[in-house]
Amino acid sequence: MFKRVLVANRGEIAIRIIRACKELGIETVSVFSTADKDSMHVKISDRSICIGPPHPNKSYLNISNVIAAAEVSHCDALHPGYGFLSENPSLVEACSRNNITFIGPPLKAIRLAGNKSKAIDVMRNNKIPVIPGSIGNVPDIRHAAKTSRQIGYPVIIKASYGGGGKGMRVCNNQRELENFLSLAISESRSSFGAEEVYIEKYIPKPRHIEFQVIADNYGNVACAGERECSIQRRHQKLIEEAPAAVLSPKDRRIMTDTAIRAARSIGYQNLGTIEFLLDANNHFYFIEINTRIQVEHPVTEMVTGLDLIKEQIRLAAGQKLNPPNPGASFGNAMEFRINAEDPQNNFSPNPGTIGECFLPGGPGVRVDTFIHSNYTVSPFYDSLIAKLIVWGKDRKEAIDRSSRALDEFKVEGIKTTIPFYKKILKNQRFVKGQIDTHFIEEEFGV
Ligand code: ADP
Repeated sequence: MFKRVLVANRGEIAIRIIRACKELGIETVSVFSTADKDSMHVKISDRSICIGPPHPNKSYLNISNVIAAAEVSHCDALHPGYGFLSENPSLVEACSRNNITFIGPPLKAIRLAGNKSKAIDVMRNNKIPVIPGSIGNVPDIRHAAKTSRQIGYPVIIKASYGGGGKGMRVCNNQRELENFLSLAISESRSSFGAEEVYIEKYIPKPRHIEFQVIADNYGNVACAGERECSIQRRHQKLIEEAPAAVLSPKDRRIMTDTAIRAARSIGYQNLGTIEFLLDANNHFYFIEINTRIQVEHPVTEMVTGLDLIKEQIRLAAGQKLNPPNPGASFGNAMEFRINAEDPQNNFSPNPGTIGECFLPGGPGVRVDTFIHSNYTVSPFYDSLIAKLIVWGKDRKEAIDRSSRALDEFKVEGIKTTIPFYKKILKNQRFVKGQIDTHFIEEEFGV
């Protein structure tokens, strides 16, 4: 097992990783920008090192500074969390050059998953169902128009190196395709530093259902069930739940087997998420693999009893998959992303100083956060300030408990998504589990 882990992140996920390390008896070294010098992750780690000024490019995204912190503190492993450098192949290479174990999958898997159109091609070749679309990228309008004519409009242009719901454009006809293609290419260049885009058939009103795979270094692959992440705004997840209300045991079994097959087909190791879209006819299609721990991992933990961060660490240290079949689950869990955003104003970020802060508790309630009364939410980082995760013996109890917990949750002084979630929980479509990725715009017009 590792002796000392560098936690290359901030906020709630840094705290989550530190907690897992402590329970495993591993020392932790955290890193921080000057904006985070008083943050909780700094206080609860064994040692902490400043890696630069507030701007992420100069601190949390600066590979040399992160690696230097691991070197001077003699860490033998590095956990990247999510976001920032977590899926950056250069960090993995830098770790290996410096004899630091990267807690995550091998470089090859990260490279492949990072290039989404390539990953789709590999899956197609391995007989995993994918959405009809371009084979590889579309270099110009001629290719794009030909592919779109073949698969039929509407289509969606996606950035091959994209993420975070950014860089997608829906085109209803060839005129829109002509208008949007160059825009999508230049957006992809400016946001992701690469011009490659690909085309998929646009699925009307899909559900986003993803499977948590767990693989050791010896060819054992298991699946810890699914998460439904259909409650989204601008293609970004807001509420996630496990299990997915819509899946029959048979459909779940088929999708689980497919997810395991997808992971096996690329020799995957460590934790990963196989994302599918499910259409109105219950056909499912692979869209991408995420090679990091996901924001929404706690809903899986709540229904399976697993500690996924500990699993990541154990597997990276070369231990075998344990237990061999972690898929058994009990009850229902939901996660609400508490963002410092104004839902009334197009979810625009709303950083600032929090006044009174009170976190909910009681049976089945977990809050992963770094905020407290008088904490100042920095404009430099993601607007996620807390995750409320709630478990119930069934979906109804999870919903009732979530309403109760959201009522208790007080974050004064800044706008958050809490009041919006209270409205969602009263929505009958949500209560009945009749959700898809257009739920928020259809029900709330935002
Ligand atoms: P990202 O990596 O940026 O999160 P994804 O490929 O995972 O992008 O897609 C994010 C979301 O965008 C999906 O959950 C879904 O809501 C929407 N989406 C992506 N591809 C399609 C598609 N072909 N048809 C309809 N919606 C899509």
